[in-house]
Amino acid sequence: MAGRNHLYVPGPTNTPDSVLSAMHVPMEDHRAPDFPNLVKPLLDDLKKVFRTETGQTFIFPATGTAGWEIAMNNTLSPGDKVLSYRFGQFSHLWIQSAQRMGLDVEYHEVPWGEGVPLDHLTRRLKEDSNHEIKALLICHNETATGVTNDLAAIRQALDEAGHPALFMTDGVSAIGSIPFFMDDWGVDVALTGSQKGLMLPAGNAYLCFSQKALEMRHSAKLPRSFLNLDDHIQANKDGYFPYTPNTAMLHGLRKVLDLLLEEGMDNVYARHHRLAEGVRRAVLDGWGLTLCAKDPKWYSDTVTAIVVPEGHDAREVMHVAYHRYNLSLGAGLTEVAGKVFRIGHLGDLNELMLASAIVGAEMAMRDVGIDLKPGSGITAAMEYWRDTAAPLPA
Ligand SMILES: *Cc1c(COP(=O)(O)O)cnc(C)c1O
Repeated sequence: MAGRNHLYVPGPTNTPDSVLSAMHVPMEDHRAPDFPNLVKPLLDDLKKVFRTETGQTFIFPATGTAGWEIAMNNTLSPGDKVLSYRFGQFSHLWIQSAQRMGLDVEYHEVPWGEGVPLDHLTRRLKEDSNHEIKALLICHNETATGVTNDLAAIRQALDEAGHPALFMTDGVSAIGSIPFFMDDWGVDVALTGSQKGLMLPAGNAYLCFSQKALEMRHSAKLPRSFLNLDDHIQANKDGYFPYTPNTAMLHGLRKVLDLLLEEGMDNVYARHHRLAEGVRRAVLDGWGLTLCAKDPKWYSDTVTAIVVPEGHDAREVMHVAYHRYNLSLGAGLTEVAGKVFRIGHLGDLNELMLASAIVGAEMAMRDVGIDLKPGSGITAAMEYWRDTAAPLPA
């Protein structure tokens, strides 16, 4: 098929051309004397993405899924109680991972399309006066449903209850795209992967540990070998890794950090919000459809899950979009399979790139017989983006 594929799954996201070029490098000696000149600034600059001055960052040759394991097995012991909420495929998988690791997982079901119920959380934390709950596992942005949790409010609930549980967050589809403040929100372990907001191929997990979480590794008894932080702490302090790193990815990461920090993290967040709002205008005002996220307070600025009207199958929309228009949309996962499709809008994106997802989704929906006014989605998005466009340079 001529022309490019339009990639709007929420991950992998589009890799900027400058990042692709930065990764096109010969292999090199990862024990060379000047290798730390690459590594040390990466670990430092990652802190600016996690928005921390006191935390310690790590780069693992792994994916987000391993990030859950790294967070847990370096801080907890078999049988430790952890508290979590299940409101989508990714919060589900983290809970499953905790169970497989032998933790005592207390989790509560939340309807998909909502997030962590703060009143319930506050009550459970207050009830737990013996502090049996050792960690709180919270998926910041549930990629399956397009729901973002209010982490500041969750920190407040912990503080209000005077509860010392470690605050662990999965930021795979949040960090580097939407506001995340490790220090201000008192997050103890935050993790992400390379292929979402950080615009790289999959294959790296990035983590940040608070000093409190780092200390826990001395008492944590869950078995760990490859994912042991101690080996990283030892090697990283001199700018090396305990095993062979993916050096090309490190050069890509260098470029990504340069791009993000040059734009400014607050500007990155604002851009994601504005682009996301255009998509929501298309869905709600243009097409008159509904979102999986049930209330504006949950709306995600990195992914929108769109509910197809009763009697239609979202898988058919995706099938047509892919085969006819070379557009990759995100699938509805497990409980919402066939009911929703998703538009990922994070990473290297601007208005006209995202316009292709809206236009393609609309054509595919009309092709499968969903009754929409032609051009209604993109018109709503265009007008919003025009109204909120930055002033021209003087
Ligand atoms: C994509 C994603 C993951 C899984 O990451 P992998 O890199 O595929 O292992 C975990 N959590 C969230 C919120 C995600 O969006």
